[in-house]
Amino acid sequence: MIATIGILGGGQLGRMLTLEAKRMGYRVVTLEPFPNSPTGQIADEQIVAAYDDLRAIGELGARTDVVTYEFENIPLASVLALEADRRIVHPDSTALRLTQERILEKTFVRDCGIPTAAFAAVRSRDELQSAAREIGFPGVLKTTMGGYDGKGQWVVRSPQDVEHAWSEAQRRPLIWEELVAFDRELSIIAARNERGEFVAFPTSENQHDHGVLATTIVPGRIDPSVAERARRYASTIAQRLAIVGTFCVEFFQRGGELLVNEIAPRVHNSGHYSLDATQISQYEAHVRAICGLPLVEPRQFLPAVMVNILGTGAGDTLGGLDELLREQMLKLHLYGKSHAALRRKMGHFTVLGDTIDEALVKAERGRRALRWIDDRAAALR
Ligand code: AMP
Repeated sequence: MIATIGILGGGQLGRMLTLEAKRMGYRVVTLEPFPNSPTGQIADEQIVAAYDDLRAIGELGARTDVVTYEFENIPLASVLALEADRRIVHPDSTALRLTQERILEKTFVRDCGIPTAAFAAVRSRDELQSAAREIGFPGVLKTTMGGYDGKGQWVVRSPQDVEHAWSEAQRRPLIWEELVAFDRELSIIAARNERGEFVAFPTSENQHDHGVLATTIVPGRIDPSVAERARRYASTIAQRLAIVGTFCVEFFQRGGELLVNEIAPRVHNSGHYSLDATQISQYEAHVRAICGLPLVEPRQFLPAVMVNILGTGAGDTLGGLDELLREQMLKLHLYGKSHAALRRKMGHFTVLGDTIDEALVKAERGRRALRWIDDRAAALR
């Protein structure tokens, strides 16, 4: 019987996961280095420790019945240590290892018969030159591990940019990818449990700002056959990885092509809308999957648009709530973070409409209503 869930990571994904887990009657312990984290504010306990502190990791395992993570850049060694201690971790170390490293990940996807952008491993200057020659310009050079929200990536438009990107990358292991001239970025959130039940949420369309997700539109404005293909690819990936939990597959759509960019073995920013637009959220699906409960197919009530509320660096107080909250079909979520640094994810809102176009108009109105205010500067004036 599972009574207590452990979560590695203390951000907003862990917070929303905790809120759903608590609603379902579970206890939650999070491990996160920063005290009073977004997850820690809601969880029953927060162990304040580094993700690679194996003594603290052992304590997390001992205090909980199943461990999961809200962020895949946790050390693989921590998950391996938990497994060696016979603790249950979902998704397991096999899924984590594969999705932490871009070359392993893309090779796996290709081996599943699923297309990706052209790519090559870059471990030396020579390999960089040959990757650029074979795959061509423009390309994108990425660190193979540890990147998120567009960090650790350099677009290389011409042979003159190659040296610059190489020196910026500072000898870390790299991957060269073709820069895809996509029509849209899409993602699908899906979940699988130990019984092998698989369910998928509607395919969503994602718009980014400097590599950070800004807006998610659900369902994505795509042909049903493309949505069906996204679902099929997610199902193949789930089975081949034997993943247990909610996960996300990100795609580039270019004409009739659907290329996998990334697999995230966790709940995902592009699935936030499911808290308010489907009868089961990605977080509940994750709790059910890791706790051995049945999964049900998500049903969407109305078209939805999710807008991330990102910091700007201009101040830490969010203004415009009075106007935003006049919208009838809107749900606001704030993450309890005190400092709104530039492009930091501070919260989001989801707005529903009878049509996507209506939801988009409302979302734009909401976005324009909000602004960050520097209270201290205002008080001094
Ligand atoms: P990633 O960390 O791989 O998810 O990349 C972050 C964002 O950078 C993506 O959501 C895309 O907007 C952009 N991007 C990454 N890789 C490529 C690529 N090969 N072609 C075009 N855009 C890319």
